[in-house]
Amino acid sequence: MTEAAPRGNYRVAIVGAGVIGLFTACHLARAGAGPVVVVDRGWLSNGGSGRNGGGVRQQWETAATVRLARESVAAYRRFASEFGFNIWFRQGGYLFLADSAAEMEHLGRVVSVVRGEGLDARLLRPEELPARAPGLAADRLAGGSYLQSDGTLYPFPAVWGLYEAVRRAGVDVRLGTEVTGVRSADGRVAGLATDRGPIDAPVVVNAAGGWSSELSALAGLTVPNRATRHEILATEPLKPFLDPMVTRLRDGLYFSQTMRGEVVGGLALPHPVGTAQGVPSSAEFLAAMARALLGLFPSLRHLGVLRAWSGFYDDTPDGLPIVGEDPRLPGFVHADGFGGHGFMLAPAATARVARSVLGEPVDLDPALFSVGRFLGPAGQRPVEGLQLG
Ligand SMILES: Cc1cc2nc3c(=O)[nH]c(=O)nc-3n(C[C@H](O)[C@H](O)[C@H](O)COP(=O)(O)OP(=O)(O)OC[C@H]3O[C@@H](n4cnc5c(N)ncnc54)[C@H](O)[C@@H]3O)c2cc1C
Repeated sequence: MTEAAPRGNYRVAIVGAGVIGLFTACHLARAGAGPVVVVDRGWLSNGGSGRNGGGVRQQWETAATVRLARESVAAYRRFASEFGFNIWFRQGGYLFLADSAAEMEHLGRVVSVVRGEGLDARLLRPEELPARAPGLAADRLAGGSYLQSDGTLYPFPAVWGLYEAVRRAGVDVRLGTEVTGVRSADGRVAGLATDRGPIDAPVVVNAAGGWSSELSALAGLTVPNRATRHEILATEPLKPFLDPMVTRLRDGLYFSQTMRGEVVGGLALPHPVGTAQGVPSSAEFLAAMARALLGLFPSLRHLGVLRAWSGFYDDTPDGLPIVGEDPRLPGFVHADGFGGHGFMLAPAATARVARSVLGEPVDLDPALFSVGRFLGPAGQRPVEGLQLG
């Protein structure tokens, strides 16, 4: 990291102190970008970055995403030595479950993309599944796919480690500060309006997670991002029995066992779109999750739920994030649209955000990752089909 930068006029103002905003700040500080401020109206981890399942996988349908995820896995392996925080990154694998021949075909396509990128993903027959997840009732499953180097981590020390690192590097992190406007002059970004006064910066990074479309709207920009609420729970701890994150294609069920022994997981239920609903939990979710989990692991029937919570995904229509400057407003840089996958893509995706901020070449296909893909006529666009868990 470079020496502490003086406070004052900022080169970059990042909105959102979640994993995306803080990792972006970290890359910028390392590149010696100049004074950077990160602004968040909440506290550390109050957004999706403190509400997620900690899953980190490289099994994707889109080769470019596999590459970002592979780079992120390498970054998380280095995290403890680089940042001095143990994030309990455990590469116990990701096990996808298919209920039908059609889903197996889908996984077959995924495995061939992932193997094409040099990772050892493989298809499993139903009888091979319980060896990966002891106790799994595999009799009605069609099979699955598995990649050992996928895994899980603890989100909180990761966010905390980034926070400490960027502050040590001189980044100004202003928590409890609400952004109320994006200021512009002469057709480009000039800074932020906040409830604690204006901030001058020629570049604003939108790392506002589930609220990213609201921030874009403050800049006068329409984007297709939609916030969707997702619920999740943690059970009482059990003796270690489950290495991989298990996810099911049919309903988006996902769960893993943490190193404290709790089973942590969720399931997608239809919820109204938007952030106005807040982040409550529902009895409907508890019932659906219990049914789904016990259908696969009948032996867990006496397991008690300790707590349940929810958070927002920031979804895009094609399941791919938006990275880079918005051509409609020079200086406004997107780092949003990460859906349910921001943690697993953060280290690599934010390196590209930082390069975009610095005006350096970015090795991402604009047809997949730029906001421009949504600005032209709505034609045929590639869609990431593995948007779960
Ligand atoms: C239930 C659930 C499970 C998930 N599981 C996984 C998983 O297993 N693996 C994975 O990779 N990802 C998972 N995700 C997704 C992941 O958590 C997110 O993609 C990621 O945390 C997004 O990080 P972020 O920094 O973009 O946003 P956030 O962490 O949401 O941070 C955005 C911040 O912006 C701030 N903000 C917004 N608007 C303003 C404003 N106007 N002024 C000031 N501040 C503002 C908010 O306060 C917030 O702190 C899950 C998400 C949920 C909800």
